[in-house]
Amino acid sequence: MSAYRITNVRIFDGTGREPFAGEVLVDGPRIAAVTASGDARSRHDAAPPDATVIDGRGGMLMPGLVEAHAHLSFPDLFADAITRLPVEEHMLITVRNARTMLDCGYTSAFSAASAKTRLDVVLKREIEAARAPGPRLLANGPEITVTGGLGDTNALHLPYDEAPTFCWIANGPDDVRRVARTLAREGVDLLKLNISGDGGTSSAGADVTVMTDAEIEAAMEVARPRNLRVAGHCRSAGSVMAALAHGVEVIYHANYSDERALDALEAARDRIFVAPAIGHTWSLAEYGVSMGIPAKRAQAAADELAYCADTYSRMRKRGIRVLPGGDYGFPTSPHGAYAKDLELFVDLLGFSPMETLIAATHHGGEMMGKPGELGLVTAGALADLLLVDGDPLADITILQDRAKLSMIMKDGAIHAARRAHTA
Ligand SMILES: [Zn+2]
Repeated sequence: MSAYRITNVRIFDGTGREPFAGEVLVDGPRIAAVTASGDARSRHDAAPPDATVIDGRGGMLMPGLVEAHAHLSFPDLFADAITRLPVEEHMLITVRNARTMLDCGYTSAFSAASAKTRLDVVLKREIEAARAPGPRLLANGPEITVTGGLGDTNALHLPYDEAPTFCWIANGPDDVRRVARTLAREGVDLLKLNISGDGGTSSAGADVTVMTDAEIEAAMEVARPRNLRVAGHCRSAGSVMAALAHGVEVIYHANYSDERALDALEAARDRIFVAPAIGHTWSLAEYGVSMGIPAKRAQAAADELAYCADTYSRMRKRGIRVLPGGDYGFPTSPHGAYAKDLELFVDLLGFSPMETLIAATHHGGEMMGKPGELGLVTAGALADLLLVDGDPLADITILQDRAKLSMIMKDGAIHAARRAHTA
């Protein structure tokens, strides 16, 4: 394992402290020391003599970004085309997307579903063994959905009415248990339940809560003893309430949260994470029609977006942890565009750049299950770091420019160093 002394940087440490000039010592996979400029001299002596010096040239050193709603196996295609993709091509595309995500400065990904059962699981093993570049990953399986729920793209006249799509269709608690147990057997870390429908699609609408209490509870019964974590696609207020009642930890979308749902989210705020996945919604509303999306789908996205702006400004004021992560992997919101979400948090949801970056780093580390050791630039934390040529607090959009990411480090290993920073 190598040691690095990263000098001449402004440090955004993820804690909420204003950025400060200083240097960071990385030893092995962790940060050994963070030193503000004034007292740097004494700490130089603490650096191992063989530490490689990286001159940050006045750039911003910050924690690696966390994508809270990742679909590494979504191939920049829409739903039916995802289902038709053979597994061989699909695995290669997934591996490629993982590299793209890390290239974009995202060193962690919380998967919001894999389009086939083992894509995330196999990818995660390759990443952890350092055989494939990619973010540290919590692996999910296909979304569990009920007949007529989001992702049930079957048609009655076709030979198999309830074939797996990019989701897995399950009806009734016994069936949900069977699917959840199968996913657990295959090695997922997470389960995803489509508790509400979705706007403008062939499934039930966004305001409809499609999964029953018994079905949600059946998934939780499988998850709890196996330490699987559970996320829910919850657009309707009823689906948010149901998810919280059964202990679902990650609430996606939540657009139509009413006052009761907001109260329930606030009451659970220390144990839950919310992510609007706004990038996908925004791009459907913005580009959908020009890219062949039915007008009613694009209109549904525009409606969701309008609700989002209001709902999420209220969540922010209530201290609920809201994370960027935008469902990237569709033609309208392709892989590589992840950091657009950060701009949308500022422009549409009213988060300050500081709040947005804390959500994308510090809160992301908590969501990844590593509070206090991931998403921070502090002594003892994991050395997942991003060196940015410029100040994302002054202009959050520079994080969308890969040319400005001059160093990406994960677990103390440099992934990409586009410039010769080492002296
Ligand atoms: Zn999604």
